[in-house]
Amino acid sequence: MKKLYPILSVAFLSFIMFSFISCGDDDPIIEEPLVTLTDDEALTLFYLREEEKLARDVYAYLGSLYDHIIFDNIGASEQRHVDFVLEVMDEYDIPDTGSDDAGVYTLPELQDLFNSLTAKGELSLYDALYVGATIEDLDIFDLDAALTETMNEDLINLYEALRCGSSNHIWAFTSQLKMEGDPYTPQFLSQERYDGLLLAGHQSCSGYK
Ligand code: ZN
Ligand code: ZN
Repeated sequence: MKKLYPILSVAFLSFIMFSFISCGDDDPIIEEPLVTLTDDEALTLFYLREEEKLARDVYAYLGSLYDHIIFDNIGASEQRHVDFVLEVMDEYDIPDTGSDDAGVYTLPELQDLFNSLTAKGELSLYDALYVGATIEDLDIFDLDAALTETMNEDLINLYEALRCGSSNHIWAFTSQLKMEGDPYTPQFLSQERYDGLLLAGHQSCSGYK
């Protein structure tokens, strides 16, 4: 009996270890986000995914028409914004029903906007810069609204990061328009909000995390 005890112990330990190891294989832990988004939050996130892509696509198109560095620089920033939104959508298991093709959108209002903005941008460099200011004006307007509609910290961080970038972009486009002698008048933001953004000037923006 004395010799049986260590043998049993080894067997018992092996059983425990095997159970521990096999547990992970048999019952994979499905990682679900701890917090889920409301339908409205998910819709806003997808809208912003398409809106950031619209900015990227319009600037790429305008950059192909005019030899002006602003479209390439800000277009690269918009690609990062699209990636930020897609990362958060992925974290919250929001299916991405958007297209990766330039100028193609799932939401009809963004498709119409792309068509009208690119048509205006074709007219002249001034119009193209005006289109840039218009896009950023709308982006900041939409982000201000989105920030009042959520308490989710991931979304707040994301929207603030996008808005920081957009504030720099509107500052850059409208500075160019001012140099052309015909300053931009906001179409979505209030004059007061717009003046405040320009007064703040160029900000240093970090990522969203
Ligand atoms: Zn952006
Ligand atoms: Zn922008």
